[in-house]
Amino acid sequence: MKKEALLTEEKTLDPQNWSALNELGHRMLDDLFHYLETTRQRPVYKKPTPAALESMQQPLPEAPQAASAVYEDFFNHVLPYNTNNIHPRFWAWVQGGGTPFGMLADMLASGMNANVSIGDNMPMYVEKQVLDWSKEMMGFPATASGLLMSGASLANITALIVARHHANRDIKTKGLQAVAGPLTIYGSSETHTCVLKGVEVIGIGSDNFRKVPVDADYRICTNELQRMIVEDKAAGYIPFCIVGNAGTVNTGAIDPLHELAAIAKEHKLWLHIDGAFGAIPKLLPEFDDRLKGLELADSLSFDFHKWMYVNYEAACVLIRDPQLHREAFAYAVNYLTLHERGLSAGPDAFNNFGMELSRGFKALKIWMSLKQHGLETYRTLIRQNLQQAQYLAELVQGQPALELMAPVPLNIVCFRYNPAHTRGNCTDKELNALNREILMRLHEQGIAAPSYTLLNGKYALRAAITNHRSRFEDFELLVNETIRIGNEVTGS
Ligand SMILES: *Cc1c(COP(=O)(O)O)cnc(C)c1O
Repeated sequence: MKKEALLTEEKTLDPQNWSALNELGHRMLDDLFHYLETTRQRPVYKKPTPAALESMQQPLPEAPQAASAVYEDFFNHVLPYNTNNIHPRFWAWVQGGGTPFGMLADMLASGMNANVSIGDNMPMYVEKQVLDWSKEMMGFPATASGLLMSGASLANITALIVARHHANRDIKTKGLQAVAGPLTIYGSSETHTCVLKGVEVIGIGSDNFRKVPVDADYRICTNELQRMIVEDKAAGYIPFCIVGNAGTVNTGAIDPLHELAAIAKEHKLWLHIDGAFGAIPKLLPEFDDRLKGLELADSLSFDFHKWMYVNYEAACVLIRDPQLHREAFAYAVNYLTLHERGLSAGPDAFNNFGMELSRGFKALKIWMSLKQHGLETYRTLIRQNLQQAQYLAELVQGQPALELMAPVPLNIVCFRYNPAHTRGNCTDKELNALNREILMRLHEQGIAAPSYTLLNGKYALRAAITNHRSRFEDFELLVNETIRIGNEVTGS
C-alpha cells in the first residue's frame, strides 16, 4: 500500500500547540500550590454539590473537548470535594497528608511514563535504592528482598503468598491439595481485615485465621497463642504463620513482637508483621524496646503514604529470604528473559517478586522525599504526632464530659462524649447513637475529621494522627467542639 493512500494526516495524542498546553500546565501548578497553601482556611469536609455529582453522570464522550475545558471541569467539580486528607484537622482512618514536593515528583514520574518492571533503566535502580533504604530503616539485613506496592493491603498479601510457599513449595503448582491438612494462621483479634481478605484470597480461608484474644492494652495474648497452636497441631491442622501487629488500626497497639519471634521460631512458623503505620517509629531510638523483634520478622509490610506522608499510593513489603521470595513468584517466560546488553539487560525484574507486571514509578516520590527532608525531619514529625496524641489524650482526660476509651501507646486516640456527670448514666446504646451524631456534625460543620471505631461494642471517636500539618491548637479545637456539639445534641 502506498503511504499517501493510508491517511491524509497522521494523528498523535501530543498537543498541536505545545505553548498553549505549557500555559495551561503552569496554571494547574499555580492552582495546586495555592490549594495546598490554603488548605487550613477551608472546611475539612464539603459535601459534593448536586452539580458536582451531575458532572459524573455524563455520556461517554465521543467528540474531543478543549484541554482547558476539561481542566475547568476538574477544578470546579472534583478538586473542591477532595477526601481532604491534606487538611490539618484530618485524622480519619489512618491517612497521610502527602506533600507539595511529592506532588511534583509524581508529575515527573508520570512525565517519564516509567513502567518499573524490567530492564536496564534508572527507575529500576531508584526502586532498588528505596528498597535498600527501607531495609536499613527497619533493621532488615541488606540481603533481604522487597517490593514497592500500592498499599499495606497488597504488601500483606504478597508476604502471605511467600509464607504459604515456605509452608509447602508444592502449593505453587499443585494447589492446596498438596497439603496434608488445613493450614492455619494466627494473629490477634485486632488484626486488620486486609489480612483476613488476604487469607481468603490465597486459599487458606478466613475460618483458618485464628483470632487470638488480646489483653487490656489490645496486645495479643501470647500464652493463648501458644495454646491455640499446640491444640491445632494435635487436631491435625497445620499451623504455618503468625501475623504480628506493629500498630493496630483501632488503637495503635504494638504486639510483643520479640515474643512472637520466639514462638514462631519454636514452632517453625513464618512471622509476618503488619506495620502499616506502626513500623515507622522504628526510626526513633526511644522505640527500640517497644518495636524490638520487628527486625526478626520473616516479612514486614509498611506504608509510605501514611506516617511517612508520601503522596498516594506507596507501600513496601520486605522479605528476609530473597530466594524464597523470588521462587514464590518467578516465572520464566520467553518475552521477559534478561539479556546481556541493551534494553533487556539490568537487574532482576520486579515482576519476579510480586503479582504485578506493569508497575508505576512510585519509587521516585519516595526517593525524592527521603532526600529532600532527610530522616531527621521525619523523626521530628513522627515525634510531633506522638506528642499530639498524648496531648489530645490529656485534654480528653481533663474534661468531665469526655471519656478516653483506650490506652494511647502510639498516635491513635479513641474517646467519646459521655455526659454522665450531668445527666446520670446513659446506656452504651444511647452513647453510641450520640457519638455517631457528634461525629457526623463535626464533619458536616467542616470542623475536624476524626473517624470512629467500635471498642468492645462501644462507639469511639478515633483520631489517627499521621498529619504533618496538625498543630497542638487543632486538638484543643477538636475537644472543645466535641463538647459543644455533644451539649447541643443532648440539650445540656
Ligand atoms: C491502613 C492499614 C492497612 C492497609 O493498608 P493500605 O495502605 O490502606 O492498603 C493494614 N494494616 C493496618 C494496621 C493499617 O493501618
